[in-house]
Amino acid sequence: MIQKRKRNRKINCSEGLAGGIKYSVNFSKRARKLKIALHYDGRCVATVPFGFSERVVRKFIEKKSDWLLDHLKYFESVRNSAPRNTSGDFSDNKEKAFILARERVDYFNRFYGFSVGKINIRAQKTRWGSCSRKGNLNFNYRIAHLPRELSDYIIIHELCHLGSFDHSKRFWDLVEKTAPNHAELRRRLKIEGIRYG
Ligand SMILES: [Zn+2]
Repeated sequence: MIQKRKRNRKINCSEGLAGGIKYSVNFSKRARKLKIALHYDGRCVATVPFGFSERVVRKFIEKKSDWLLDHLKYFESVRNSAPRNTSGDFSDNKEKAFILARERVDYFNRFYGFSVGKINIRAQKTRWGSCSRKGNLNFNYRIAHLPRELSDYIIIHELCHLGSFDHSKRFWDLVEKTAPNHAELRRRLKIEGIRYG
């Protein structure tokens, strides 16, 4: 159960527009001076003590509007480039993911020398990759969005299943040969939110 925090503090809110920036003002008993927070979702929030002049808030935002707009624009570009799990994202990145997987499988397999079947790119919701008994390797198209060391880890992981189908010590020994820091990479991948097979 989540309990709502009881608030004795009086909180008031108002909104305004200054220098092309939409902002809101929180009046807070705890605030000692004017503070501006820019949020990732594009909100600009000023927190001020009670009795603080809204005119001063507006003037301050106007004065800093170039700086604030720059940062808001940056947040917007980050939001727009974040991967979206849509069919459009899949068709846009399938080819890129395939080229990446093909190239890196070949690269690491020069070391391992396994017999690799087909490489498939899929739009899996919960898996980064999998490997079939026939030796086919399947990868999530979202490997195209990952930093190179993480997509390499996924590729090495699936490739090593061609040498050992389970997650035995023998398997991890194989992985370690080309990804000695695999434990750390796995931790980072967990943050990305989907499983690998
Ligand atoms: Zn595995």
